[in-house]
Amino acid sequence: IGVFTDPKHNLWLDEAQPSVADIQSGAALEKGEVVVEIRSTGICGSDVHFWHAGRIGPMIVEDKHVLGHESAGEIIAVHPSVTHLKPGDRVAIEPGIPCHTCAPCLVGRYNGCERVLFRSTPPVPGLLRRYITHPAVWCHKLPPSLSFEDGALLEPLSVALAAVERANLRLGDAALICGAGPIGLATLLCARAAGAHPLVITDLDAGRLAFAESLAPGRVRALRVAPGDAPEALAARVVEAMGGTEPDVALECTGAEASIGAAIQAVRFGGTVFVVGVGKNEMQFPFMRLSTREVDLRFQYRYANTWPKAIRLVEAGLLSDIRKFVTHRFPIEDAVRAFETSADVKSGAIKVQITNL
Ligand code: NAD
Ligand code: ZN
Repeated sequence: IGVFTDPKHNLWLDEAQPSVADIQSGAALEKGEVVVEIRSTGICGSDVHFWHAGRIGPMIVEDKHVLGHESAGEIIAVHPSVTHLKPGDRVAIEPGIPCHTCAPCLVGRYNGCERVLFRSTPPVPGLLRRYITHPAVWCHKLPPSLSFEDGALLEPLSVALAAVERANLRLGDAALICGAGPIGLATLLCARAAGAHPLVITDLDAGRLAFAESLAPGRVRALRVAPGDAPEALAARVVEAMGGTEPDVALECTGAEASIGAAIQAVRFGGTVFVVGVGKNEMQFPFMRLSTREVDLRFQYRYANTWPKAIRLVEAGLLSDIRKFVTHRFPIEDAVRAFETSADVKSGAIKVQITNL
């Protein structure tokens, strides 16, 4: 799997990409399309997984492949049919291109699109490149106060926003967040902004927990867990860390069976366990605990309609701490090093970005 982009031939790996001249004139574009010069791309855990394993479940890399789905850049050409964007505009790219005609699309839940082309999920080429032709409707204009880096953070932020929204997290809800990776941390920011309190976050890694506490000093309690912890015992520690309160909502951002089990044990009667994490194909849950406590066990798949909201909330300062997530930056020529850093647990990386500024 290649992640290297030849700096001399900007358009490596995707033979369908038009020539630079055709890009600049707009001649190569179809109705509704724009060309974006990519400036910042974040590396996601799934990119690293595809890089190492060549597959995630049924999604298999079978040929050369371009990774990356967290990007922002500058518009350099637009088809004449595009009226809301012009060359020079700075945009965040929403990486999924839904069909607009299937049942989930028609009700606005386009994350369930049956025919979605999601950039970086094989065989659809991703955004870790210099130029991309993309539908204008999936390019969200950035206000002056948001940088390209900020724009590239809107994708992981969107996952968290979708979760907090669909989990119905509200002012004063006691919230448990499982996992302090980029998704758990973004979820912590959204939960804080939603007014959830108390907040407890778990992780295996002390460094990530310290980072989580620094995001909401005095408002979040960090709980270090070990892989072998019994769910019941962990649940008791969560309740203790909450000052005796059982969480109303657990936002599960690890996908680990033991963590989901602990979340189910911890939430109050009638509470919600909202699972964002992705894990094994089949898992064991404490079924009777769910049943006798009327726990709602719910799930999230990507996001829909989140970018406009994410842009407003970062711009207004409610979620601007997401900027602190970018711990490492590499030029596009060093993309391999960026992947190595992202994959190295000892690097202390939260979010690694590849820049082409
Ligand atoms: P990540 O791997 O960077 O972070 C996961 C964190 O969970 C790590 O810090 C790890 O130490 C911690 N962890 C692992 N096992 C644990 C346990 N038993 N208890 C507590 N913490 C534990 O991943 P990420 O990028 O933050 O993503 C989090 C999860 O969300 C992943 O499973 C990812 O695949 C999933 N995800 C889902 C969606 C979706 O649409 N549903 C979108 C993006 C990511
Ligand atoms: Zn569709």
